[in-house]
Amino acid sequence: MENYNFSRNVQENYNLTKKHLFKKKAGNAKFYYELKNDESLDNDLKEITKLYQNDIPFRIYGMHTNLYITANGYDGWFIDIGPKMSYLRFDEDTEEFICSGNLLTSQLVNYAMEKGYDFASLAGVPGMVGAGVVGNASFATGKEFGDYVKRVTLFDFESGKDVDIIPDKDFFWTRNSFIKKANKDKVRYFVKEVVLWSEQIGKKAVRAKFDAQMDLRIKDLRIGYLEGCAGSIWSNIDLRNKIGMSFRKVVIGTNEFNVDFNGARYSKYGSRFFTLDENTTEKDVAKLMQYTVDKMKELYHVELEKEVVFLDYDGEVDLYTYIDRYLDK
Ligand SMILES: Cc1cc2nc3c(=O)[nH]c(=O)nc-3n(C[C@H](O)[C@H](O)[C@H](O)COP(=O)(O)OP(=O)(O)OC[C@H]3O[C@@H](n4cnc5c(N)ncnc54)[C@H](O)[C@@H]3O)c2cc1C
Repeated sequence: MENYNFSRNVQENYNLTKKHLFKKKAGNAKFYYELKNDESLDNDLKEITKLYQNDIPFRIYGMHTNLYITANGYDGWFIDIGPKMSYLRFDEDTEEFICSGNLLTSQLVNYAMEKGYDFASLAGVPGMVGAGVVGNASFATGKEFGDYVKRVTLFDFESGKDVDIIPDKDFFWTRNSFIKKANKDKVRYFVKEVVLWSEQIGKKAVRAKFDAQMDLRIKDLRIGYLEGCAGSIWSNIDLRNKIGMSFRKVVIGTNEFNVDFNGARYSKYGSRFFTLDENTTEKDVAKLMQYTVDKMKELYHVELEKEVVFLDYDGEVDLYTYIDRYLDK
């Protein structure tokens, strides 16, 4: 650590419970650092480049709304993107919205709505624009984040430089992107800036679309935050493609998912999000995951895809690795 020259204090053995939307305990990160979108950013990205070059594990997160952190924490650098000092500019000539990766998606949607530009399909998507681009976020079958993106500026930890990319048709796919894929095992790119474009249909028309989407979502969003959840564990888009309905509909349609493994369960309310209690263990969660996977195979003959990122001691792990690790512990 002494070889690094970050702009502010790096914290050691940092407890990640607060970085977790779930009401539960999470383990510690070996190191914790908060990136700020100010004059310190360039220096700090250079320092992270050194971590990259020295093969020291690190992950970068936004608002943690798509994150499940295990009780074992993370044996690396947990780098948080602070939400302050974000920017959003509108270019009158090109009708482009230029924003920092740490801008909240809700701020983009609301600002554009005032000007009559239509980003209403992103209404109610929590988190930052950078993360929305990485995960190609969307709601139900509406336009996806990638549909609005004209250019992204990424910081490339391999070269230590910014790179501007104009996404082509292979850049985004369902809840995924070139960036997410490239960052899977080792974080190579940081989303610095995003340029977006959408049609101008007038404030009233955008408001109507926005309200219609929020009417569908607001109750579930409130319940989700109240109960503590990280959105939908299971990819609803994937399920809709396979069986024509979301996981919520599946849960509502049968009693088979009315199970509780020491607090690991699906909510009885709202979107039937996955939730847990403070004393729920990883083993309990793994039991619920295994039960769900088996039941979905039995009832619908489908392999479930997870949507939420699971962060374990050695990095982001897939569902089956998680189950293998914790089911028999
Ligand atoms: C109640 C609720 C409702 C939700 N509804 C939706 C929905 O309708 N549609 C949808 O798509 N998702 C939804 N989500 C999931 C989540 O909100 C989105 O995935 C969101 O885009 C994540 O933003 P975040 O800032 O919280 O990212 P985080 O959870 O902090 O990170 C998500 C991923 O993005 C990466 N990342 C974040 N910022 C950057 C960056 N600048 N550069 C590189 N990588 C980065 C992280 O490494 C991580 O892999 C919902 C979640 C909740 C809790």
